[in-house]
Amino acid sequence: MTLLLDDVTLTYPDGDGRLTALDAVSLEVPAGRVTAVVGPSGSGKSSLLAVAATLVTPDRGRVVVAGTETAALDPAGRAALRRERIGIVFQQPNLLPSLTAVEQLQVMAHLSGARPKAVRERALTLLDAVGLVDLAARRPHQLSGGQRQRVNIARALMNEPSVLLVDEPTSALDHERGGAVVDLLVALTRERGTATVLVTHDEAHATRADTLVQVEDGRLTSRAVA
Ligand code: ADP
Ligand code: MG
Repeated sequence: MTLLLDDVTLTYPDGDGRLTALDAVSLEVPAGRVTAVVGPSGSGKSSLLAVAATLVTPDRGRVVVAGTETAALDPAGRAALRRERIGIVFQQPNLLPSLTAVEQLQVMAHLSGARPKAVRERALTLLDAVGLVDLAARRPHQLSGGQRQRVNIARALMNEPSVLLVDEPTSALDHERGGAVVDLLVALTRERGTATVLVTHDEAHATRADTLVQVEDGRLTSRAVA
């Protein structure tokens, strides 16, 4: 199992008490599969991704990423795990305004000390995989919303992650373009063998996943894909 959440509970400080964002959540995501997470606003979807990304440490429960028990890691170990094993796509493509599409990808790998030529080739291959190789020299303001989100996804794949965590990637897109981004995520998941978690509020998009789970008040309810 590439991503495992076992009996995870997460609370946040809330006035005098605590707010339970995740309540005994267990989830297994195998390599090459997409699990869609749906649920109302405030139900805990982003919290689930933050815990899986090791950005937030749960009060209770285990988070295992590509065989690594994350509770055993110190902050530097968690940062290394994120860099090497986890790709994250947030709701808004937080691209750097001054960089071209290919450079957005290249800066990811420069942090890990790979050779520049190999890095550029890998970046172009990934842009090709998301259908943007012809736009590699464009800066974010010269790209549409959907194109920016594709760059964002390609960037998340730059370090060959085992786990891909995607939070509402289509919220800034119309339904059709959003559907194309979800189809792309499913295809990339198959091709690259990532364990993918896709948070979406769009039920039609969610049914393209292999597994569909619903979150309500921090609790998971499994649901069959229609
Ligand atoms: P969703 O992504 O489904 O909209 P979230 O995971 O963002 O839900 O939020 C779940 C609950 O946790 C909400 O009640 C939200 O207000 C609360 N919450 C989220 N992040 C924090 C935080 N950093 N501090 C305090 N409360 C938070
Ligand atoms: Mg959210």
